[in-house]
This record gives sequence, structure tokens and C-alpha cells, in this order.
Amino acid sequence: SATTLSNSFSCTAQSTAIIIPSRPKALAVSYRELSAEVLSFQKKLAKLGVTPQAAVSIALPNTYEFIVAFLAAAEQRAIAAPLNSAYKQEEFEFYIDDLSSAVALVPKGSFELDSPAVRAARKYNAAIAECYWNGREVILDVKDEGNLRGKGNRNVEKAQPDDIALVLHTSGTTGRPKAVPLTHRNLTSTMKNIKATYNLAPEDRTMLVMPLFHVHGLLAGFLAPLYSGGSVIVPPKFSATDFWDDFITHKANWYTAVPTIHQILLKNPPPTTKPNIRFIRSCSSPLSPTTFHQLEEAYNAPVLEAYAMTEAAHQMTSNPLPPGKRIPGSVGIGQGVEIEILDANGSNVPQGTEGEICIRGENVTHGYLHNPSANASSFTKDGFFRTGDQGRKDVQGYVYITGRIKELINKGGEKISPIELDNVLARHPAVSEAVSFAVPDDLYGQNVGVAVVLKSGQSANAQELKDWVGERLAKFKIPKSVYFTDIMPKTATGKIQRRIVADTMLKQDS
Ligand code: ATP
Ligand code: MG
Repeated sequence: SATTLSNSFSCTAQSTAIIIPSRPKALAVSYRELSAEVLSFQKKLAKLGVTPQAAVSIALPNTYEFIVAFLAAAEQRAIAAPLNSAYKQEEFEFYIDDLSSAVALVPKGSFELDSPAVRAARKYNAAIAECYWNGREVILDVKDEGNLRGKGNRNVEKAQPDDIALVLHTSGTTGRPKAVPLTHRNLTSTMKNIKATYNLAPEDRTMLVMPLFHVHGLLAGFLAPLYSGGSVIVPPKFSATDFWDDFITHKANWYTAVPTIHQILLKNPPPTTKPNIRFIRSCSSPLSPTTFHQLEEAYNAPVLEAYAMTEAAHQMTSNPLPPGKRIPGSVGIGQGVEIEILDANGSNVPQGTEGEICIRGENVTHGYLHNPSANASSFTKDGFFRTGDQGRKDVQGYVYITGRIKELINKGGEKISPIELDNVLARHPAVSEAVSFAVPDDLYGQNVGVAVVLKSGQSANAQELKDWVGERLAKFKIPKSVYFTDIMPKTATGKIQRRIVADTMLKQDS
């Protein structure tokens, strides 16, 4: 599939690509209008001076301007780098600095507010531009040219399949977050695989409820539907109270989400009219068989659990549509992606036994940016990528995830790095040592726990430590449980093992 993002969309020009369900009136955008808008935004980026393979940080929520900016940056041969708009300044600083971003795109009003993203962009001399829909077109309002001063008025470019289109960071478990470059070829490969898995067609309409700054929402919720010529309904964020109203009004017939969102929707069922659902997709954290059965019963539709990660440009496996067999508790079979279960030496384990899930395919990243040591340990000599997930495969190829080699906290699909939290807490004047880990949570699957040893003669309560984190990191990373302890549990050799710390704290708690 030697193509680039925008020209891979298989559609008739007049059919609807995007619906923004703003109340009282929705905005519907045809494929023709979308491609004209993208070209016009490409010209704005060229005028500003964005060069091929320069990073464009996009700190915008799920909006039409995000969509246009993202597609235009990629088509202009720049690298789209979406960021969670809820980040705090030091988080923005890390990401903008790591990619030496040429420009940061921020919502209207951010410059006057001197928002965290604006302050971070200024610190690293990135250009700052507000980006919004004015009712006729998507505006790029340049507030500060930063490093692009005097470099403007470039030409419109045409992306190539092996250009990097997207960089997202994984939540690093051992150190700095790793930058994952994904080319047009990687992304279109996933788009093709997802289309084939679910038989996506122009008649299909999906509700996007996942953020566009992660691969789940961007690839499965947005790009794959456009690749298939369908329509995507894009509310500004997930809202349990508006979901079914939008779903029914705009005639959606499927959606993809994390288990937490499925559970919230089960508690907020559709009003009288039953929506006509073709299938429901679940991904990014484990779907319990209980939730699986509740969903199938409530919506009378097949529930298909998939398995994905950033380095794979999202999807690796999925349960198939009927008449294929779906197995609750399994993430299904490889979908256009080779899946092998390997041991530490990179050899296949005996059939049915546990090992590391490893993947190979056109969708998989060629390697992290400026991180040779991670790349050396992440790929086998046969070119399989090590996912860091533990699992097994049955005789029919169904994959079961049995554990994680990596120590990330998976809070409702949002991955949180324990080391980032440890480091922020260790900067608190009263804290001598802090170790973060996952604690079980009914709604999110996992939540954040932290064990803290205070400095002698110092005091701090749980709320003070939570506030300390909340001032420095996005809200979703604030610990739910803080355990104070006099000594940090260690292994016999004096090492910290998060699992041992977690087990000790949870035992004390019960
Ligand atoms: P890392 O730094 O470890 O690469 P990340 O921030 O890149 O993490 P993501 O790429 O968002 O994380 O998530 C990938 C991980 O999510 C998978 O490796 C797996 O552990 C988990 N995951 C995805 N889908 C499922 C699923 N259906 N069931 C259980 N876990 C899942
Ligand atoms: Mg990852």
C-alpha cells in the first residue's frame, strides 16, 4: 500500500467524512470539503515556514481543527505530534523539546491566557499559532514565529510513503518516554488491516470517543473509517449523557473504546429507541468476560476485543466478526500482523506455553527516535518487535495476554509511567523515597498507588502529595492511594521491585 494518508481515503467526493455534533446544529464535512480544507491549511503551514520532517506539536482537543491540522501536517511532509491538551507545562516542555518542534498549535485564546503549552513552546523557541474553525475555514493565527522567523513562504509539498507522518511517545517504564515514529506506510497498513478486520464500508458510521492524541482514537476511531469511505462523528470529548443521543441522531452503527467507557455506557443506556449496532470494538486494556457478556446482551451486537500498541501503529490482533469465533478473555488473532510467542533468546516457545508476544508487519515502527539501546533490545534478529507483554497462543492462533513484562500502570487504557511519578514525588521536600505501582480499580481496571517514606522530622499528608503531583502533571496521573511506610520493601539484594512494594502495601491495607 504505497500511499499517503489523505490520498488513501476511498470515497466519493460528495459523501460525508466528518460530522461535528455541535448543538443545536451539526457541522457535516464532505470528503471534497475536507481535502480542500487540508490543502488550504498546508499552504498556511508552508507560509509559516514549516520544513519537511519538522515536528508540528498539536495541543488541541478532538475538534475539526485538530483533524485538518493533523492531515495537513502529514501531507506537507512534516511530522504531526499530537499532545494531550490537559498536560501541565513541564510535560509539554519535555515533548516539545524532545522533537525540537517547529511550531505548537494551540486553541484560540491560549496566547492571551499564557497557557502551559504556550509557555513551554516559548521556552524552546517553537512558533506558537492558535488554530480554530471560524465557521468558514480553519484558521492558523500565528502569535509568535519563534524559530521560524524569516523562514516563511515555502512551497506546498507532497508526502512520500516512507516519510514520518506521526510521532507519539510511549510512557517509558525505565527512563525517558520513547519517541515512536510512524510513516505513512505504517499508518496506511494499519488502516487497511482494520478495514479488513471489521469489513468497514462507506455505509458505516462511527462515533469517535477516544482522544486523537493516542493511536486508538487516531487509527481505529478516525483514520481507518476514512480509509473505508465511511463517516466519523466527532464530539469534543466523551460524554455519557450525549453519547446515545449523538449516536442515534447521526445514525452511527459502531464504536471503539476502552473497557472503562463501555462500563460507563452500560450504566447510561440509550433512551427508548434501540440503536442499530453492527459491532462494538474494545481495546487498550483487558475487557473482563463479565463486561463482554453484559455488552452483547445490552446491545445485541458482537463485541470484538482487539490488542494494540503505539509501536504497531495500533492494531495487532482482534477477535473476528461472525461467522468467525470470538472468545471472551482472548484478544483474538493476528490481523495482517505476524504474531509469535518468543523466549528471551528470540526462539519460539513450545505451542501453548507463555512467552513474550512479538510482532512483525508493515505497520510496525522501524525503531524509536534517537534511542539505539532501546532499538537494540526491542527487535529480534528476525525483525520481530518485542511488545513487553506476556502471553500465549492457542492452536487456532487466538492470543491470550497473561501479564506484562513492563511495569506501566494501565488506567482505563491511559498508560502512566511509574518512574515519572516517583521522580515528581521525590522532589517534594518531605519525601525521602517514593515508589509508584498499579492498584486494582473497579472502573479503570488499574489506578495509581504510591508508597512513600518521609524524611525524618518531616511531615506531609496524602492530600498534600496528591496536590503536589496535580500541580506538575496532568490530572489523570494523580495517585488514588498513598501508603506511608517507614521502610521501603526491597528484594534480598536490596533492589526495588514494584510488584513486591505493591503487594506489601495492599496487604497492609486490607
Ligand atoms: P509502553 O511504553 O510500554 O510501550 P505505551 O504508552 O506505548 O506503553 P500503549 O501503546 O498505549 O502504551 O499501549 C500498549 C499496551 O496496552 C500493550 O502493550 C498492552 O500491554 C496494553 N493493551 C492493549 N490492548 C490490550 C488488551 N486488549 N488487553 C490487555 N492489554 C492491552
Ligand atoms: Mg508502547
